[in-house]
Amino acid sequence: MVPHEVEITVLGSGGWFATHRHTTSVLVRTPTGSLLLDAGTGAGLAAAGAAGPLGRNVHVVLTHFHLDHVIGLACLPALGADTRIEVWGPGRVLGSATEAILDGLFATPLFPTPLRSFIADVHELDVGANDIGGTQIDVRHQERHPGGSVGLRIGDFAFITDTEPDPGTVDFVAGCGILMHEAWQAVQPVPGHSAAREVAQLASLAQVGSLVLSHVHPMQDAPEALLAAARPTFPATRVASDLLRLG
Ligand SMILES: [Zn+2]
Repeated sequence: MVPHEVEITVLGSGGWFATHRHTTSVLVRTPTGSLLLDAGTGAGLAAAGAAGPLGRNVHVVLTHFHLDHVIGLACLPALGADTRIEVWGPGRVLGSATEAILDGLFATPLFPTPLRSFIADVHELDVGANDIGGTQIDVRHQERHPGGSVGLRIGDFAFITDTEPDPGTVDFVAGCGILMHEAWQAVQPVPGHSAAREVAQLASLAQVGSLVLSHVHPMQDAPEALLAAARPTFPATRVASDLLRLG
């Protein structure tokens, strides 16, 4: 089970571009502050207060740097100067530098406000255990997405996105209460991404408590099709929606 003092709310359940679903972001509230796992356009819901107050300390943890996972950083100045925002990125894990990548996006002429005017600090994630604002987050390098990505685990909650089905995920998420995993579409394998049917097999092998499908394709996001592909193998499957509370 996810510890009862941790609250998990989906902010963006889609991938690529926003439709009725925002792009990827998940809010994890802990006793010491708020974590945003990825900052797609869903991060704007948190910045606008739709998921309740975030507190004075917000840590943004990025799985990779594709725009549908980082563009919502542009919304975070709305939290105001009293909120201390720190970003944790996988730049070093993926062969680059997090701050340099984000500096290239959040600076003129693309954005009027320099990154460091609203982000207090930028850190590199490490593979393995990371202490992020008093919360331990385990990180795994995923090599089956263009440019790579990282999987995240916070206690009994695992967040796996932007990867083809990866056998290494099974050990990483084994036994967790909630696995949130990308499912780009229902059945057909797609380079760089996962299909719901394949994800259900991973969830079954890892013996997780429940599976939440997210980062769905903006034009193939019917929950019925995703569930029909996953539930025969793993019945305890849901499809994420924006502002869905997971635990
Ligand atoms: Zn991606």
